[in-house]
Amino acid sequence: MTPSVFIISAPSGSGKSTLKNGLFDRVSNLRFSVSYTTRKRRGAEREGESYYYTDRAHFESMIDGDEFLEWAQVFGNYYGTHRSELDKAEAVGADLVLDIDVQGAAQLKKKIPDAVSIFILPPSRTELEQRLRARGEDSEEVIAERLRGAADEIRNYGKYDYVLINREVTASIEALVSIVCGQRMRRTRMEDQIRPILETFETEPAEKGVLSE
Ligand code: 5GP
Repeated sequence: MTPSVFIISAPSGSGKSTLKNGLFDRVSNLRFSVSYTTRKRRGAEREGESYYYTDRAHFESMIDGDEFLEWAQVFGNYYGTHRSELDKAEAVGADLVLDIDVQGAAQLKKKIPDAVSIFILPPSRTELEQRLRARGEDSEEVIAERLRGAADEIRNYGKYDYVLINREVTASIEALVSIVCGQRMRRTRMEDQIRPILETFETEPAEKGVLSE
């Protein structure tokens, strides 16, 4: 069966990585889509786990070769999902989770209308600003840029299937797990499991009246 596709978008600092990690701890058979990017590797990130790091020339040659399911420029860098990510998920029977921005989410929804999209919203601008500062990763200038970016991204929440307001981590992970489990229980995703159950009922029908005697 083709994998279910879950798109998660959120302004940076909204706690997306924590929620995503919580989801992966709680739900099996999920694969994280590793994107290509031209941005520099940060602290603990690892090649092939967080991203595949490359340069602009290589990325542009991949665009020309139509190798991406979607791609976009975010904060001056290229980011893109390689077509092979879907195949890799299918090969191991997993569903695919993508952490991509609003531009990429819109492109992917066009290509895969059944994809389930989730927008994570911080409880307020003040809270987002506090979280960005607490991370201690960015300069004041970058924080201001991320806050401006957040305001733009948030205006796109209406394009998503689900909106998750991240007030409290445990409850938000719970909500994310529910969305994934709900999608997996859709009838169209259950056919492989339903068929063998139906087969157990396909014996000779009981003679009329026997049950009511
Ligand atoms: P960061 O540099 O903080 O890891 O990511 C910056 C933004 O790029 C985030 O909003 C993230 O969701 C987005 N992003 C990461 N990978 C992709 C991708 O493959 N495609 C698109 N469109 N956005 C991505």
